Amino acid sequence: ATPMAIMVATGRGAQAGVLIREAEALEAYAKVDTLVLDKTGTLTEGRPTLTDVVAVSRAELEILSLAAALERGSEHPLAEAICAGASDRNAPRKDASEFEAITGKGVRAIVDGAAVFLGNEALMTEQGIDVADIQERRKTLEAEGKTVMFLAVEREISGLVAVADRVKQGAADAVEQLRRAGLQIVMATGDSETTAQAVARETGITDVRAGLSPDDKAALVAELQAQGHSVAMAGDGINDAPALAAAQVGIAMGTGADVAVESAGITLLKGDLTGLLRARKLALSTMRNIR
Ligand code: ADP
Ligand code: MG
Repeated sequence: ATPMAIMVATGRGAQAGVLIREAEALEAYAKVDTLVLDKTGTLTEGRPTLTDVVAVSRAELEILSLAAALERGSEHPLAEAICAGASDRNAPRKDASEFEAITGKGVRAIVDGAAVFLGNEALMTEQGIDVADIQERRKTLEAEGKTVMFLAVEREISGLVAVADRVKQGAADAVEQLRRAGLQIVMATGDSETTAQAVARETGITDVRAGLSPDDKAALVAELQAQGHSVAMAGDGINDAPALAAAQVGIAMGTGADVAVESAGITLLKGDLTGLLRARKLALSTMRNIR
């Protein structure tokens, strides 16, 4: 594209909340045939709220106190939901030390002298914690589209906490229109298969890749590229940064983490899914004009 055409497009984009960092990003977005969409914060609002606490070996309120003690150290949207839910339900405050975030998996810390872990099944497995006994209750919650986290104290499951996150308004419609704009849509998420499928059903997405670590998301992009596809990746979180960087064009949903924005060639200020479509149309028309 000529520098002039790009300049005009960049200006028009900015007015519509589409920030183009480099000319190459716009050219690349006109050429991609595949769009990988992160789930949490991209297809969903990313503002989950606490819905369930399942007591296994400790009382519900204690589970909440422990979970919130860990999550106070985290900036993940799930952390906010758990802390807000704990305070709404008046769970007594506990203090944690030696906090550590395990990206794409969960959090750990020491509370009341005990090692406490909160996170997904991958985190439990990694720690050698047995989750077999509670799989049924977990599946029931996940089939409702909820994200379920395991709480373990001294390597024993104490309970489950579940949160729900609404799908963004108009998401199914936007997905359909993106398809019509020539894009094959793939959902990528660190969340579990069952939860991911519930969101996929609601948004009309059929290609779902669940249980992915941040590096797995980047590997998925590479795999699609190896199959001959040209790939755009849209995401909002620190967990999406490697995939955003690996794609032909990374698109940061503007409401998300700074790291995501730094790894992306395009940023959608409002973080809504129609922005993906606006940016695609802008890219196509700019490239058409210069050919
Ligand atoms: P997504 O790909 O859907 O944006 P992430 O990669 O950030 O999600 O997280 C994947 C999974 O890891 C979550 O569904 C959750 O089970 C677990 N997890 C990540 N961060 C946290 C946290 N701060 N607290 C509890 N669980 C977490
Ligand atoms: Mg996300």
